[in-house]
Amino acid sequence: MTDSELTPIFDRSTRHTAASRYRMGAEELLPETAYQIVHDEAQLDGNARLNLATFVSTWMDEYADKLYAESFDKNMIDKDEYPSTAEVEDRCWRILADLWRAPDVQDALGTSTTGSSEACMLGGLALKRLWQHKRKAEGKDASKPNLVMSSAVQVCWEKFCNYWDVEMRLVPISEEHKVLDGHDLEKYVDENTIGVVAILGVTYTGMYEPVKEIAAALDAIQEKTGLDVPIHVDGASGAMIAPFLQPDLEWDFRLERVHSISTSGHKYGGVYPGVGWVVWRDKKWLPEDLIFWVSYLGGDMPTFALNFSRPGAQILLQYYLFLRLGIAGYTAMQQASQDVAVYLSKGIRELGPFELWNDGTDIPVFAWYLKDEKSAKWTLYDLADRLRMKGWIVPAYPMPADLAHLTVQRIVVRNGLSMDLAEKLLADIADSVNYLEQLEAPMPAEGHKPGFTH
Ligand SMILES: *Cc1c(COP(=O)(O)O)cnc(C)c1O
Repeated sequence: MTDSELTPIFDRSTRHTAASRYRMGAEELLPETAYQIVHDEAQLDGNARLNLATFVSTWMDEYADKLYAESFDKNMIDKDEYPSTAEVEDRCWRILADLWRAPDVQDALGTSTTGSSEACMLGGLALKRLWQHKRKAEGKDASKPNLVMSSAVQVCWEKFCNYWDVEMRLVPISEEHKVLDGHDLEKYVDENTIGVVAILGVTYTGMYEPVKEIAAALDAIQEKTGLDVPIHVDGASGAMIAPFLQPDLEWDFRLERVHSISTSGHKYGGVYPGVGWVVWRDKKWLPEDLIFWVSYLGGDMPTFALNFSRPGAQILLQYYLFLRLGIAGYTAMQQASQDVAVYLSKGIRELGPFELWNDGTDIPVFAWYLKDEKSAKWTLYDLADRLRMKGWIVPAYPMPADLAHLTVQRIVVRNGLSMDLAEKLLADIADSVNYLEQLEAPMPAEGHKPGFTH
């Protein structure tokens, strides 16, 4: 039987046999048949808006959608063909350099990337190359670089150290030192240290690392040993929050030791997946021999990237948001998320069985754990399962390294999780807790099922 457009769509032959999954089919399909198959498969994914696990934007307004549809064919690397997009990219990182208090934006240098992971790689590579140049100029061995960071770093730093042969020096977090805070730093830093990574918005919990205190600890180390160790701030989420919600917090280029800052445009920058940024406070911190030149309007344009081709549309979307929101709009948007985060963390603490690890007042992200994990009859994984049944994705996972005995559960509040939805979520968490508590209680008489009391 051959399909035709007249055959009802769910009655076409490909519907009777599962479409070839792991081998290309011999014949064509009608486009609408193929579309329907892919569309149906994608439906089985979680609902992006109810996914409270991800930091990445799941909502943009209809003008952004329109702009996206107009520009998804643009390749960022074709600077010659798309000079306006190239110009917009330039404006965006300059806006960020200014937002992050670069002393002179003219001296700064930056670029877009596919996300924070690539941005962190570039920041790390600059630190490594700079250190190598210095060591070689001094006639010293440059074969054993190390990078110092908290044990709660995002996986991209493990990748960086693995891919580029840099020793990873992890400072373990603990109940006492919940983040990298400069404590004991002298035990980890030596002449082979290319830099220290400070995280503004730790992925596990949402807490800020106190960059100023880390810088002060490095000042003290320099005074004692002469070692001048730079900082890269991984501001994947926080670099798009702190300038608006904590403008007086000194974490950025106000601190001279901060060479470079990276962020994800697609997290609290508000853009759909596919864009990140990295900025150096001064050109001199990005060694020239890492830069490549691409042809641009008959001239040459510098690029520093791991990819060659990549989407240009997200850069236009970032610029759209910068224009659309301005400082006031970004502040309002981030404040709304923070209000929801604080409302939720307070509500969850008041439920009884939980202790907060933090309350969402840094970035709008917080984590909690069971007060009495040992004697509890259910785990946070059970709670995550119950919530999943109601559509919510709220992950539970172990903390890193020395705290791996501790299981936490985390909520990331993004633009789009309204107070309305948050109230519903809190009610669903309360319900789920009641259900789990009753499930483990002895069966009541009268034979009615525990947990189904409403
Ligand atoms: C999310 C995250 C990253 C990786 O960012 P992508 O944009 O997903 O590549 C790096 N560091 C931190 C702290 C993060 O939260």
